[in-house]
Amino acid sequence: MSSVIRRDGQHLARRWLGSSTSCSTDLAASKVSRDRMRRSYDMMLEKCKSKKLPQDVNARGVFACNELDLREVQVYGFDYDYTLACYKPSMDYLLYKLGRDMLIKKHKYPEGIADLEYRDDFAVRGLHYDIEKGLLLKLDSFLQIQLGAVYRGLKPVPDDEVLRLYKNRIIPIAYVEAPYKHHHDGVRRTKMVQLADLFSLPEMGLLCNVTEYFLQNHIDFHPEILFRDVKNSVQSCHPIMHKLVVENVSEYLESNPDLNQYFDRLKAADKKMFLVTNSPFHFVDKGMRFLVGDDWKSYFDVVIVQARKPRFFTEESRPLRIYDEKNETQLWDRVTKVEKGVIYLEGTVKQLQDTTGWRGHQVLYFGDHPYSDLADVTLEHGWRTGAIIKELAHEIETLNHPTFKRNANWLQMLTALIEDHQNVDGPEAEAELDAWIQERDRLRNEIKHVFNEQFGSVFRTYHNPTYFSRRLFRFADIYMSSITNLLCYSPTHTFYPRRGVMPHEYMSYFM
Ligand SMILES: [Mg+2]
Repeated sequence: MSSVIRRDGQHLARRWLGSSTSCSTDLAASKVSRDRMRRSYDMMLEKCKSKKLPQDVNARGVFACNELDLREVQVYGFDYDYTLACYKPSMDYLLYKLGRDMLIKKHKYPEGIADLEYRDDFAVRGLHYDIEKGLLLKLDSFLQIQLGAVYRGLKPVPDDEVLRLYKNRIIPIAYVEAPYKHHHDGVRRTKMVQLADLFSLPEMGLLCNVTEYFLQNHIDFHPEILFRDVKNSVQSCHPIMHKLVVENVSEYLESNPDLNQYFDRLKAADKKMFLVTNSPFHFVDKGMRFLVGDDWKSYFDVVIVQARKPRFFTEESRPLRIYDEKNETQLWDRVTKVEKGVIYLEGTVKQLQDTTGWRGHQVLYFGDHPYSDLADVTLEHGWRTGAIIKELAHEIETLNHPTFKRNANWLQMLTALIEDHQNVDGPEAEAELDAWIQERDRLRNEIKHVFNEQFGSVFRTYHNPTYFSRRLFRFADIYMSSITNLLCYSPTHTFYPRRGVMPHEYMSYFM
C-alpha cells in the first residue's frame, strides 16, 4: 500500500480517508481488477461528458455573503480609489516606475534595477510577504501555504524547500495576525504582511524584481529592509502620482458612464450619500469631475478627504476639519455640524455618526479594501458593507469558459472516483490509481493557472478559499466587480445569500 504527496502537500494515503459513500469500501483493502477500475473510470467520464455544463455566472452580478435588504439602507457611503474610481493598468506601471526610481535616487539602490520592467501578470492581490525569508506566497483560509505558489524573486521555491523552511505547511497564526486590535494597516510586528490593497500590486512587482536582481547578481540583502524600502518608496510617490494623474486624468482613470445614472437613482430614492477617502481633495475633485461631472459634489451630503482610514474608523478623537477649496488649505474652525457642499478632512467615524445621526444597519458603505474599509465598520459599528473587487470580472470570465467548466466538473468526479478506490490492492490496480491521482494533479494545476500563472485565483487555493476571500466574506455583506453592477438591481432589492453547501450536506443536496 503506497501513498502520494500531492501538490497541496496533503498526504493522500490510500486508506483512512473518509469516504463519501459507504463504510464497506474504506476499511479493507479490496481486490479490484485493473479492467474493472478502467470501466468505472470510463463510466464516470461518460457521465461527466453527458452532463450539461452549468450556466454562465453574470460578470455584472452582485453576490451576497449575508442577507441585505436595501429598503433598510438610508445612507450610502463610498470610498474613492478603486471603489468609485477604477484605474487603468497605466496606474500600476506609473507607481512601479516612480517607486523604482525612488529606490535608486533616495535609497541608493543599484542603477541596474532601472532596467527592470513591471510585469502586470505576475502577482495577485491578497498574497503574503514573509519579511524574514523574503518570499511572496499564497495562504488559504486555514493558513496553509499553497505549494507551487511560493516565490523568491521571480522563481518558484520548490515544495521540499518550502517544507524545510517552514517545518510545516500550516503557518502559526502569530506569523500573520497581530494579537491586538487595529493593527491591520501599515507596519505590524508579524513575520508576514498581507498585500490586500490594489495599490500594492506594483509594490509586489517591484519587490520581486529587485529580489531577483539581487539574487542574479549575488548581492547580499535583508528581505525586511528591502520590503520597507520598496513600501516606503512606492507610498512616498503617491503625491507625485496624484499630480501626474490630475494633469492627465483620462490616461489613468477608467470612465464609467453608468455612475451618474446610479447616483441619480439613489437620489431619486431619497437616499443620503457620503464619501470618505484617504486621498487629497484636488486629486479626488479632478477624478470625480472626470467620472461624474463638475457638479459631482451636489450628490454628496458629506465629503471627507484625507480621512486616514482605517484610523478614521478606529480612533476615538481626531477632530474633523474644514478644507478651504479656494486657498487649498485647512481651517482651524471647530466643526459642530456637517454641511452639504463643504469639504472636510480627517475626523472620525464617531464624529460623522454624531453630527449626522446615521447609524448601524441604515448605513451601507462600499470599499475595495476588506480590512481598512470594511472590517471595522461592520465589526464595531454594525454598518452594512459592500466590497468592490475589480478582479472578480476576470475571475468570472475564467469560470465561464467551457473548458474551465468541463475541467472543474471532471475534477470533482475524478476525486470521488479516487476516494472510492483508495483501498485497492495489487500492483496493477495501484498503478491505475496512481495514474488517476496524477491526472487529478494536472487538472488542479490547469484550473489554477488559468487565473494567474504563478498564484492562481485571488479567491481559491485549490478546493479551499484563500486567506483573502475568507476575510472578504466575513466583512462584506455583498461584493461585486464594479459599483455600477448595482444598476441591475432596484433600490428596494433584497440580496439573499444562497444556502452554501457544508461538507456534511454535499451528498444530500448536490450529487
Ligand atoms: Mg480604496
